[in-house]
Amino acid sequence: MAEEKDYYRILGVSRNASKDEIKRAYRELVKKYHPDLHPDNKKEYEEKFKEISEAYEVLMDDEKRRIYDQYGSEGIKFGNQGFDWNNFTHYEDIQDLFRDFMNNFGFGDFFRSEKGSKNMHLIINIDMKDAYRGSTKEISYSRNVKCEACNGTGAKDGKTKRCPTCNGTGEMRKVRNAGFMQFVSVEVCPTCGGKGYVPVEQCPVCKGKGYLNKKENLEVRIPPGADNGLNLRIKGKGNEDGDLILTIRINPDKNFNRDGDDLYTEITVPFTEAAIGGEENIQLPDGENIRIKIPPGTQPGELIKLKGKGMPRLGRHGSGDLFIKINVSIPKNLTSRQRELLMEFERENDKRGFFRR
Ligand SMILES: [Zn+2]
Ligand SMILES: [Zn+2]
Repeated sequence: MAEEKDYYRILGVSRNASKDEIKRAYRELVKKYHPDLHPDNKKEYEEKFKEISEAYEVLMDDEKRRIYDQYGSEGIKFGNQGFDWNNFTHYEDIQDLFRDFMNNFGFGDFFRSEKGSKNMHLIINIDMKDAYRGSTKEISYSRNVKCEACNGTGAKDGKTKRCPTCNGTGEMRKVRNAGFMQFVSVEVCPTCGGKGYVPVEQCPVCKGKGYLNKKENLEVRIPPGADNGLNLRIKGKGNEDGDLILTIRINPDKNFNRDGDDLYTEITVPFTEAAIGGEENIQLPDGENIRIKIPPGTQPGELIKLKGKGMPRLGRHGSGDLFIKINVSIPKNLTSRQRELLMEFERENDKRGFFRR
């Protein structure tokens, strides 16, 4: 079990911090912890940097934050290896800081793969049975697709001219001196949004945005053995050419608990059956019925193990096991005949000199 993480403490914000406050706190920490600023103990700062970024990823996402507030970090799982940079969807929020680092110190390919990310993050809720056998799910969401009329330029007929504000660089630079350090802050040009060009005339189809918001219907294949936090990456289905990253959440099941690849359930049998043995029906998560043997002398709380009837091992062969906890019911009311029989049973027990509990 992973250690519980306090994402609020990691970012040094209160539990009811607004997104703006979280963003400000995160940016301050990024400036402090960026591993390129600590060449002597880079590894340690990479870990630290990752930790604050994970916290940021969770707290900036309404759905994830709700889950975290309710279930703690155990409820948030980023795949089997935990959080990695592919899970980070807020590169834009700190991109300008990285440009600072690059300009001032010549740093910065730490993050290059995520630069300009248009990846989209969605959570998909599935049932235990979908993960047990694998399934396909239809999802519906909206994403930005390139405007074909202007080929994504936002300009009518694709005709553009150099941006007069930034002179085509897409950036606005500000130099600030603080003691012996010089900070060059580079901001995205507000006129052209960083493109460096502006339309001669605005594209009438997308109103100059270069993209259109479209509803997308997608069939998603859920692999057998999918677990909470598994990320499914669907190439090119995010905003424009970005990817869609679907995080799996499994709805709690009323009959089964999952622990890794193993499943746990329980049944209740009459005390007579526990004593003399019998058979019971069990329904697997996919609805399949199987019959199990209750061995004579089964004790309350005993576990019966069904090998290979647990969850499939994701991406590997085989399945975990299914454990069935046996509860034993004792009758509350007896007929006089039943009472008689049990008294008889008791006498027989005494005769055999059994240890009685
Ligand atoms: Zn257009
Ligand atoms: Zn510009």
